[in-house]
Amino acid sequence: MTSTLLRGIGELVTCSSEMGDGSALGVVHGGALVIEGERVAWLGETAHAPAADAVLDMGACAVIPGFVDSHSHLVFAGERSAEFAARMAGTPYSTGGIQTTVSATRAATDEQLVAQVSRHVQEMLRQGTTTVEIKSGYGLTALHESRALSVAGQFTSETTYLGAHVVPPEYADDPDGYVDLVTGPMLDACRPHARWVDVFCERGAFDADQARAVLQAGMSAGLSPRVHANQLGPGPGVQVACELGAASADHCTYLSDEDVAGLRDAGVVATLLPGVEFSTRSPYPDARRLIDSGVTVALATDCNPGSGYSSSMPLCVALAVREMHLTAAEALWSATAGGAAALRRSDVGRLAVGGWADLVALDAPSYVHLAYRPGVPIVASVWRRGRPVIG
Ligand SMILES: [Zn+2]
Repeated sequence: MTSTLLRGIGELVTCSSEMGDGSALGVVHGGALVIEGERVAWLGETAHAPAADAVLDMGACAVIPGFVDSHSHLVFAGERSAEFAARMAGTPYSTGGIQTTVSATRAATDEQLVAQVSRHVQEMLRQGTTTVEIKSGYGLTALHESRALSVAGQFTSETTYLGAHVVPPEYADDPDGYVDLVTGPMLDACRPHARWVDVFCERGAFDADQARAVLQAGMSAGLSPRVHANQLGPGPGVQVACELGAASADHCTYLSDEDVAGLRDAGVVATLLPGVEFSTRSPYPDARRLIDSGVTVALATDCNPGSGYSSSMPLCVALAVREMHLTAAEALWSATAGGAAALRRSDVGRLAVGGWADLVALDAPSYVHLAYRPGVPIVASVWRRGRPVIG
């Protein structure tokens, strides 16, 4: 097995608090790291680095763990730029536009869907994302939902069954009949391809009882729960997530004091998706209140063709700092280790000896530049499973 030493790293961010400066980011100044095969074999200060087969001098740049994007909707066809333009001209966002994407996705061939997901996963990789969760939710039949999950499974093990994204038009008069489908034959078709079950618990989508039914059926089938909660207004989504021990409640834009306490006490990660507020010109979630209350916060893109079509984790970090008052350190932790927590993973989102060598070299001396220099191509190179894939 060949080894590669990356030396002369200005800031080596490990996201392991026992490393380096002892902060949550575990920064090693003047750091070095040895990749052996797919894993990190050693990390520490350059002065103490062991010999390796190959040596790369990093020129005092910052190196961070690969981003963990724990919330995306990449299996879709078509695009909705006209709807976006109308929204920017004053039409408010509603859940109705999802139907447009459902029609396009059903009409697409398997090859078209695979090509589309591949393009977006590559786009994410170029921006430093080495782990991504991908949901279904634009098929809304047993056949099309299981097809979406089998496509997603070609790119990630973090696949999420979201048959309960919205009630399709053919069930407009019988939403409970649709829940029966989602918890019955559609679940049977999807469970072999999914790790997670998710539900859009929101006015205009699914209420608390329906959400509970969807999640409990998924859990009985061996899937783990996560919830789209409290995005467009106050609602029961967060409480349902806490009650069922979901890994994550996603969006969390409108929270009561009870919701915040519930997240903290149940250990449910609050996954914030600031690209959505940016793209829908909506108020941002109160991230400070969550962090200051002891809730674990993750940042993710929610990349989808309707409410937020950006795949950029660096943009999420910049928005979290500029608009949600996180420190740059909190934002980076939430986009890496926080995302890993939202997926209940300890093998990604941090750099540790024995862990996967998923890492990103920035064209910058400090990770703070992720927020300080928004919109620039700041990712210089990316390694995934020890292999240089970008740069
Ligand atoms: Zn979403």
